[in-house]
Amino acid sequence: MKPIAFGRARTAASAVQTIAVRPNAMFVAGGTSLVDLMKEGVELPEALIDVNGLPLSAIEARADGLHLGALATNADVARHPAVVARFPVLAEALLSGASAQLRNMATVGGNLLQRTRCPYFRDVGFERCNKRAPGSGCGAIEGHHRNHAILGASDRCIATHPSDMAVALVALDAVVHVLGPHGERQIPLTAFHLAPGDRPDREHVLGHGELITAVTVPAAPWAARSHYLKVRDRASYEFALASAAVALEVEAGVIRQARIALGGVGTVPWRAYAAEAALVGQPPTEATFDEAARMELAQARPLAQNAFKVTLAARALVKALEAVAAKGVSA
Ligand SMILES: Cc1cc2nc3c(=O)[nH]c(=O)nc-3n(C[C@H](O)[C@H](O)[C@H](O)COP(=O)(O)OP(=O)(O)OC[C@H]3O[C@@H](n4cnc5c(N)ncnc54)[C@H](O)[C@@H]3O)c2cc1C
Repeated sequence: MKPIAFGRARTAASAVQTIAVRPNAMFVAGGTSLVDLMKEGVELPEALIDVNGLPLSAIEARADGLHLGALATNADVARHPAVVARFPVLAEALLSGASAQLRNMATVGGNLLQRTRCPYFRDVGFERCNKRAPGSGCGAIEGHHRNHAILGASDRCIATHPSDMAVALVALDAVVHVLGPHGERQIPLTAFHLAPGDRPDREHVLGHGELITAVTVPAAPWAARSHYLKVRDRASYEFALASAAVALEVEAGVIRQARIALGGVGTVPWRAYAAEAALVGQPPTEATFDEAARMELAQARPLAQNAFKVTLAARALVKALEAVAAKGVSA
């Protein structure tokens, strides 16, 4: 039995200060990720600060975009009328994740910070995991890596980022709002998660004690024309093998703007800049989409068991682009 101190935060500032002075303290929101990892002995906090009482659950559609409080549940975001109408890619990504029960508990902030499903990370019986035990090696590289990353990996870590929501948000240029011991700051989601490099244990840019207070999504009228496509081993309650979040602005038969991200294949929610560049200025045809997918997946570095993901991700991307193109021409 390991004792854990538990407290409920009354204000965001006190939550931050309480965590900041305790090196082994953690925030807990829905608990659907953290509590599992505590039970497995992967996360070993000495103190938990429950942030659920903080007034951070608002979901607001504003003229300049969408404001999602960090404690808004995945279920509430997915069914919010403005999300469904203006950012369908986000609603679809959320609904493709976990289960209804989990989505009722899971929060925006916790979802961004959920940790990889790599079995070598989550099972402390495996000695080698550079993410959990820096310097111990990577069990997956020479072990089972069918589900692992083909983009953004290093020779230290090939674990995928598991979130569907983050893939949609990274495509939509979302911004993470943070309150920390030294004040507030805003971080573009594209710069929030860290590829493993030689420090797989560092997964994001937050410092100890920094609390996510909100995520904002800038207004983009054409984001109404967007879609999330997720391919997985079973139809529900399963993480992505490959997924694609796509939003397109098409005018006069030409793609003016494209926002694309891939999931299930990257060590971080993977913004597909090469694919976007290949699409802009082109007609929305199958040939254009094939070329965009080819450009993006040219960066893939697969291993023996996950090489199938190169083709799978490319086909998922093309199919998502076709679905968005079929939604009609935006103004
Ligand atoms: C069986 C199962 C299946 C799943 N399937 C999917 C899936 O298909 N797709 C998918 O995307 N996800 C899936 N998930 C993951 C699920 O989406 C996450 O567990 C959930 O989003 C985490 O949110 P939470 O609020 O419960 O986080 P918590 O467990 O409370 O916290 C997670 C982490 O975030 C930190 N944290 C929480 N809130 C804040 C904050 N405001 N500021 C700073 N730090 C914070 C905590 O300290 C902790 O480190 C699945 C989970 C389970 C258990």
